[in-house]
Amino acid sequence: MTDRGTAKNSHRLYYGEKLIDYEVVRKANSRKLRIKVHPDQRVVVTAPMDTTQAFIQSSVNKKAGWIWQHVQDFAKQKSDVLPKRYISGETQFYLGRRYVLKITADDQRPEAVKLYRGKLNVNLSLEQLETQERAAKVKSLLDNWYQQKAKAVFYERLLAMLPKTDWVKGTPAFRLLSMKKQWGSCSTQGNLVLNPHLVKAPKECIDYVILHELCHIAEYNHSEQFWRLLTQVMPQWKALKTQLDSMAELYLNE
Ligand SMILES: [Zn+2]
Repeated sequence: MTDRGTAKNSHRLYYGEKLIDYEVVRKANSRKLRIKVHPDQRVVVTAPMDTTQAFIQSSVNKKAGWIWQHVQDFAKQKSDVLPKRYISGETQFYLGRRYVLKITADDQRPEAVKLYRGKLNVNLSLEQLETQERAAKVKSLLDNWYQQKAKAVFYERLLAMLPKTDWVKGTPAFRLLSMKKQWGSCSTQGNLVLNPHLVKAPKECIDYVILHELCHIAEYNHSEQFWRLLTQVMPQWKALKTQLDSMAELYLNE
């Protein structure tokens, strides 16, 4: 059966006065109706082949509030992905939490980054720096701080994950490399490379990336055996991967 006329399958729902577009995808192998809001704010309804549009419409109407909230949340996240200016009031992630940045200029104290009372404090010793120089200085202090934290946290998580991976002999070496599209990699020699930006994510997501790379020591590819092994040592990996992917733009923003 072809359905040229409805190929785009775009529909609309109202939440109060707000108009939300949604797509319908009918699938032979889907058994019940599912509504998903994607990070790019697309609303997609997956339904069994024989579901009527009237039933779909009434289902999305019932969940209109929930859908609207999710669209708003993703829209807000997106608007947060602005170029960083490295000024007080901006936020920085660390281990899945968001911290407000507080820049001080105090010659009496060392130039340093410190997590203190829920804020990420950066102290500069030179107050007379121009705005641009100042931002560059704050960025370099923060980069350093993240590198140090990443080294310590990744090492701790690697040690915590090793008991699950009995095919790994000894403690693999890892190095940090800032990457735009990857959280980690593993060489044929079994050396890991981890993205320092990953330290902005919750610990469980860090564990997922480390376990993923450790599984490559046994299976150097993304074969079925690889995914089976990963599922064995971390049954919930898919949810963690989705969580990490949905935040990637924010964690990689610098
Ligand atoms: Zn992989």
